[in-house]
Amino acid sequence: MTGFSFWEIDTWFAGIDFAVIGSGITGLNAAIRLKEKYPSRKVTIFERGMLPAGASTRNAGFACFGSLTELAADMETHSESEVFDLIKKRWTGLKKLRERCGDNFLDYQNHGGTEIFRAEEKAIADRCTELMPWFNDRLQKVTGMKNTFVRADERIKKYSFAEVEKLIVNRAEGQIDTGKMMRRLLDIARAKGVEIMTGAEIESLKENKNAVSLHLKNYGTVEVGKVIVAVNGFANRLLPQTDLQPARNQVVITAPLQKIPFQGCFHYNRGYFYFRNIGNRVLLGGGRNLAEAAETTDAFGETELIQNALRDLLGRVILPKTDYQIEQSWSGILGVGTSKNPIVKKISERTAVAVRLGGMGVAIGSLTGEEAADLF
Ligand SMILES: Cc1cc2nc3c(=O)[nH]c(=O)nc-3n(C[C@H](O)[C@H](O)[C@H](O)COP(=O)(O)OP(=O)(O)OC[C@H]3O[C@@H](n4cnc5c(N)ncnc54)[C@H](O)[C@@H]3O)c2cc1C
Repeated sequence: MTGFSFWEIDTWFAGIDFAVIGSGITGLNAAIRLKEKYPSRKVTIFERGMLPAGASTRNAGFACFGSLTELAADMETHSESEVFDLIKKRWTGLKKLRERCGDNFLDYQNHGGTEIFRAEEKAIADRCTELMPWFNDRLQKVTGMKNTFVRADERIKKYSFAEVEKLIVNRAEGQIDTGKMMRRLLDIARAKGVEIMTGAEIESLKENKNAVSLHLKNYGTVEVGKVIVAVNGFANRLLPQTDLQPARNQVVITAPLQKIPFQGCFHYNRGYFYFRNIGNRVLLGGGRNLAEAAETTDAFGETELIQNALRDLLGRVILPKTDYQIEQSWSGILGVGTSKNPIVKKISERTAVAVRLGGMGVAIGSLTGEEAADLF
């Protein structure tokens, strides 16, 4: 413990009106919104990493709101209104993200999102085809498209996939450059006067009548007016009673290919696997369903089992006729739970949480962050 100097307290840590813990998509949007609502108040983000260090700088950049198998599976665990409310939230969140950042800063592209079905998934592909008109009918109010989902089996040959028998395309799905999105959000926050402290891990927080005390690892205690906890998959470390589990997701990326046979975002196996092009590279991630217990962790890392499954899918199904090299792999941490709805609520007079963004935080994060700010 080093403790603060007088100057550090006087210049940086005194008089913080709002603290936001976590500088992912949610925390940044919460802080930006607070500054827009209260321009003269002091808003400070505390981020434990050198960069945001959870999911927001490590994801796949799908601007998506649900593949057909995922939505069909959600209908089994959630009510119809819950499923469509969530779709609307994701859609609204994407709109907010695009308006706030600008499509050119996000490198937003709309090549659609395609779900691939292998031979052993014939039954589920048939079920999804049956459900398509029902979903399209209800989705028209959200996307404005008559047929959001369409079958596109004729593209299998062009894409050079092997072992794939059916394709269903979500025409409203797009893709972004994750790094550019986060850089833009950080720039916007700073331009609005949000102070962003990095390497600033909050070990605990305690609310008293007039303030919230945040204990900063290696320093000491800072008193702030109000706090938004936006730490997603790490929430149980700060607030152990939160209804959320961490879920690690592993990703690989190829070196640039000579020629890429497809563009856009792709889903496989109820969204447990996903891949896309990034220029002439292929990014592929997922597979946590293969080792659910081991992947229920907030520790970054790659495992042989999942890395091999990703490599196998890439070589056998996605790029069977192409020479490629895997250049890099990494992982990120999701926050998931029994419900796919994020938790956005005040847990006491001065403390709010905005966590459990699941696998679609790029879509929903802007809205969740703003909703958290609007609790104050
Ligand atoms: C591999 C992967 C692929 C994904 N792909 C997609 C996709 O294609 N499309 C999509 O919509 N979503 C995707 N997601 C999900 C999406 O990235 C997340 O839902 C979203 O980024 C969550 O944002 P967040 O700000 O809530 O959380 P995070 O980005 O996890 O931010 C939480 C922050 O809190 C910080 N923190 C934690 N504890 C503390 C502490 N005690 N003190 C200070 N700081 C702390 C962390 O360092 C982190 O920066 C993916 C996620 C992963 C992991």
